[in-house]
Amino acid sequence: MKRLILVGGGHAHLGVLRALAMRRLRAAEVLLVTPEPQLIYSGMVPGWMAGHYRLDQCGIDLQPLARAAGARLILAPVAGLDAERRCIVLPDGTYLEYDLLSLDVGSETDVSWLHAAQRRLLPVRPLGSFVAAWPQVLEQAVSRAGFRLAVVGGGAAGVELAFAARQGFVRGGIDAQVDLVASGPDLLAGHAPAVVARAERWLVARGIAVHRSRAAGTASGLLLANGEHLAADRIVAATGARAPCWLALSKLALDPDGYVAVDDAHRSRSHAHVFAAGDVCAREDAAVARSGVHAVHAGPVLAYNLRAALEGGAMRAYVPRACSLYLISTGPKHAIASWGSWSTEGAWVWHWKDWIDRRFIRRHRMPHDVTEPYHPLQESPYEHESH
Ligand SMILES: Cc1cc2nc3c(=O)[nH]c(=O)nc-3n(C[C@H](O)[C@H](O)[C@H](O)COP(=O)(O)OP(=O)(O)OC[C@H]3O[C@@H](n4cnc5c(N)ncnc54)[C@H](O)[C@@H]3O)c2cc1C
Repeated sequence: MKRLILVGGGHAHLGVLRALAMRRLRAAEVLLVTPEPQLIYSGMVPGWMAGHYRLDQCGIDLQPLARAAGARLILAPVAGLDAERRCIVLPDGTYLEYDLLSLDVGSETDVSWLHAAQRRLLPVRPLGSFVAAWPQVLEQAVSRAGFRLAVVGGGAAGVELAFAARQGFVRGGIDAQVDLVASGPDLLAGHAPAVVARAERWLVARGIAVHRSRAAGTASGLLLANGEHLAADRIVAATGARAPCWLALSKLALDPDGYVAVDDAHRSRSHAHVFAAGDVCAREDAAVARSGVHAVHAGPVLAYNLRAALEGGAMRAYVPRACSLYLISTGPKHAIASWGSWSTEGAWVWHWKDWIDRRFIRRHRMPHDVTEPYHPLQESPYEHESH
């Protein structure tokens, strides 16, 4: 009996669990080791903050999915990994050996510049901690007139979170200011100028002040690189990804930023018995953005390759699409669509995103007919790389 350990109940492992639920592995024990019983689907978190969803609508319960896949669920974070000895270690000191390991633990929020803000700081990852803390931010905002929230991060997540926070305040009748702080000159780097112009127009319309400057945390808010001090009662950090630090001691080959170096089959470059997908990995052959779309789309390929590694067979490559369509919500039921140089916006774009997101959640909620044909490109919430 061989042992496959899936570490992290992330977006890529949803695809693996679903594939295993449809066809279990022969003669292999499967463990899923992850700290939370639910995967909170990040694409719907801004909609939850804006008041469009209840939190229970934004999560996928891993327990029934694991059961259907024949996997034993262990609710604990992995604290360490020794790829030479083929074992992982849990915080209580338990060692678990594996024949095959798959990592889908996502990334962490890089808050190195913001530490001094201490209790004002609210990193967006881990997402579970963020959603647990957000209602307290709202309570704080209700009780303090002129409450100021700063969102640090000019990428799609930061922009969407700023819109969502603003909408949450408006909806609650809360007198609060939202500041968006982007470290570079450009918002939404990687998107076409027309998309950036649309977002900027809506940021102005929603009364969100944009600061284009690197920011460091202080005891009372943020110090911007231009010398300005931005007072902030709370600071949401959507400052980009950082690799989990325990990987540094794993003996796995890592890229210069500390992510697991993988080939096009998502197999470790150094250890053939380790696979990784989603934010935690770095492809050496292609620049693949850290986004849910790639985690979701890599899932079925990862599932195929894990089976091939255990039962024999050739590996498949995950080929990322050249161009992605992102759907960026702007607070109320309105969103911007971005696909290469093309863009559009409107209430219908939000409804399109809503439909895709809800369908993804529905498809991964057990019990349901797992024998239903699985077309990952049709059921991914990020099938249009919605953001
Ligand atoms: C607010 C927000 C909105 C976003 N919206 C979009 C979007 O619309 N489209 C898009 O493409 N991308 C979006 N993203 C980015 C997207 O969330 C990530 O790229 C995606 O979640 C990565 O998936 P993953 O499977 O790598 O990891 P995750 O989905 O983050 O899952 C990681 C899993 O590993 C578990 N874990 C963590 N540490 C450990 C450990 N030590 N041991 C065991 N398990 C562990 C976690 O609990 C979790 O279950 C958004 C991000 C944010 C923050």
